[in-house]
Amino acid sequence: MPRRRLVVVGAGITGLTAAFEWRLRRPDDEIVVLEAGGRIGGKLHRIDLAGHWYDTGPEAMLARVPEAVQLVERLGLGDRLVRPATTQASVVLPDGRYPLPAGTVLGVPASAEGLAGVLTPAGVARVAAEADLPPLRPEGDVAVGVLLRERLGDEVVDRLVEPLLGGVYAGRADELSLAATIPQLATHLAGAGSVLDAAAAARDAGARSRFDADAPVFVTVSDGIGSLPAALVAAARADVRLHTPAHRLTRTSDGFEVSIGPAAAPEILGADAVVVTAPAPKAARLLAGVAPGAVAPLEGIPYASSAVVAMAFPAQDVAAGSGLLVPPVTGRLVKGVTVSSSKWPHLAQGSGPGEHLLVRSSVGRFRDEAELQRDDDDLAAAVVADVADLLGLSRPEPVATRVVRWGGGLPQYLVGHRDRVAAVRAAVAAVPGLAVAGAAYEGVGVPACIRDAGRAVEQLLS
Ligand SMILES: Cc1cc2nc3c(=O)[nH]c(=O)nc-3n(C[C@H](O)[C@H](O)[C@H](O)COP(=O)(O)OP(=O)(O)OC[C@H]3O[C@@H](n4cnc5c(N)ncnc54)[C@H](O)[C@@H]3O)c2cc1C
Repeated sequence: MPRRRLVVVGAGITGLTAAFEWRLRRPDDEIVVLEAGGRIGGKLHRIDLAGHWYDTGPEAMLARVPEAVQLVERLGLGDRLVRPATTQASVVLPDGRYPLPAGTVLGVPASAEGLAGVLTPAGVARVAAEADLPPLRPEGDVAVGVLLRERLGDEVVDRLVEPLLGGVYAGRADELSLAATIPQLATHLAGAGSVLDAAAAARDAGARSRFDADAPVFVTVSDGIGSLPAALVAAARADVRLHTPAHRLTRTSDGFEVSIGPAAAPEILGADAVVVTAPAPKAARLLAGVAPGAVAPLEGIPYASSAVVAMAFPAQDVAAGSGLLVPPVTGRLVKGVTVSSSKWPHLAQGSGPGEHLLVRSSVGRFRDEAELQRDDDDLAAAVVADVADLLGLSRPEPVATRVVRWGGGLPQYLVGHRDRVAAVRAAVAAVPGLAVAGAAYEGVGVPACIRDAGRAVEQLLS
């Protein structure tokens, strides 16, 4: 086979996985990864926090979608996979703090049992009353919150689903697509006739599909998920060009020309195949010349901005399990608190001097980003105060804090998202040698991005 050149746009987990997968199949090809920013990894990012490798982007990977665990193992790093010491989280509500009930599907309950406390008696009764409603006949996509408010009442949305779903997407349950964000529930709705029965069916199907009941739901990597990008670059033997944005793609008789580098003085790079993993607005601009049908649907995918504040406090006891979910009904600044040194054994605090309680907290969500206007010091101080109060810290002075901002960090899968993705995929599939992949399409989680990268490479090489 002649030596070919693959150009990957974006050095996040999707782009680097695409480079790695390509290398395994085409050992002699040239692989160029273009990255607009000054570092590899995209949303994967680790810092040194009080002497620990600490993730400030993704900090846990769903193990049920196996691609992330498999990738770490294929990189020879399987011994670095860590399972959580605890996954018991609580939700903070205006009237108290309650353990998250077991057996929900992203907060959607399968029955009214076990909801007392986290829902008021009236809220529990409203859930049970779904049995009295006419059977559900779903027609097309719907916002998660809109459907659930109608069927199960407002409390299920405001007190359970919003904190869980909103936590994943930094989004709003009243706008997020059911089909795209809780597909396992959407699949069972038509047959089940009620949300409760559909949630039960989805939960049972999920339990059946887990071949190992002891397998953890989440894993992390002992030196940080943020350590994976460097391992991928090494394994892919890719030519990674930092500070090198791709601006435009054009077709040639036998491939593509990619316009790269400073906008004022762009260079042209030839390519036999291109994988675009840049976020949707950037992808729209890149594809305008080669797949114009993809532009409008890509522009219909907005992004939420947020900030993560990483904090190290002196060692002290906290009783918050793996962390707290803090929904908007509380009026609090933070939307979640992860107690990393309780959640992950490799970050566990000892009791001696120099030992630390490691915590991260996030601020900001879709259409609610005003607090992100604060400068770093102001934001960190406000978050530390909120976290100290929520955790009841006896030693609330942090020894280290770090603010990491994620402007346009998480795509919003709004109602109709799957149709938008289908339109993008169709427009791109009509162009031989071109693929798109990444968080904008079929899952924002790291495992879903890894899966999408593998799919893109298969598509290009088949
Ligand atoms: C704060 C936060 C916490 C998260 N927590 C979790 C978690 O715990 N678990 C989980 O599974 N997922 C989590 N996620 C989601 C997950 O991290 C991301 O969805 C995923 O990493 C996105 O990977 P990607 O490669 O598709 O995109 P990105 O990481 O965004 O990479 C795209 C890259 O393309 C580059 N780029 C853009 N335009 C151009 C251009 N024109 N030319 C060249 N390069 C360009 C960008 O600079 C970027 O580096 C979290 C996300 C955030 C923001």
